[in-house]
Amino acid sequence: MTQVTEGVYFIQGQDEMIPDSHIYVVGKPDSQDLSIIDAGLMGKGSYKIQSILNMGIELKAIARIIMTHTHLDHIGCLAEIREQIPWAELWVHDTEADLLEKGDERTVYGMEMFQNMCMMQYSLKPGAFTFYVDRRLQGGESLDIGGMTWEVLHIPGHSPGSIGLYNRMEKILIPGDVVYADYAIGRFDLHGANGSELKNSLLQLAKLDVNILLPGHNRIVTELPAGYIAETAKQWAPYLT
Ligand SMILES: [Zn+2]
Ligand SMILES: [Zn+2]
Repeated sequence: MTQVTEGVYFIQGQDEMIPDSHIYVVGKPDSQDLSIIDAGLMGKGSYKIQSILNMGIELKAIARIIMTHTHLDHIGCLAEIREQIPWAELWVHDTEADLLEKGDERTVYGMEMFQNMCMMQYSLKPGAFTFYVDRRLQGGESLDIGGMTWEVLHIPGHSPGSIGLYNRMEKILIPGDVVYADYAIGRFDLHGANGSELKNSLLQLAKLDVNILLPGHNRIVTELPAGYIAETAKQWAPYLT
């Protein structure tokens, strides 16, 4: 785990055959009100908990887990992480909260073929990703958590309930899988995905002043060039219809 800036920590995903999402821990260290953003792939929870402990952060300081979205590579080890911090609330966008509470796993797996393969490989039972959601995010909220302010942006397209978290003061964006470094964007062919929604979401993000980009995969960027997201949206626009 590395510190990106005060109150923002980065734990790199450990990809296998399937990618494992990065996670971020946000909140001022002494706030006792920290949030974990995303969880990761099955089996990838314990090293993440260990990384948090290695930074000298006490688990009791973690108040909640906020999901950028509920794809398998982000939610796979949620149960594993929650075993260590059972008091932590789960915050998810309304759309995907509905699916999680109903045990509708189509968005979690994204594709039937992938679902069959994963269920076999990881011995997953139907309904393994049914969770109660403590707070349903809508987009447009301003969250005062951990001594920092994070704005919630509903940015569908990669998945129906994808959210971004934006810290205006420090110009930090956590966009989940909507936009990555190197002009890459999230895939838009999975269940619940939508190319034109993704385009609109990118255009929404392009209006923000972003200096630090902390995506769900690949490298993080600490000095993002001005206009980076607008340029990314422009390059992809012909494919996002
Ligand atoms: Zn995803
Ligand atoms: Zn992902």
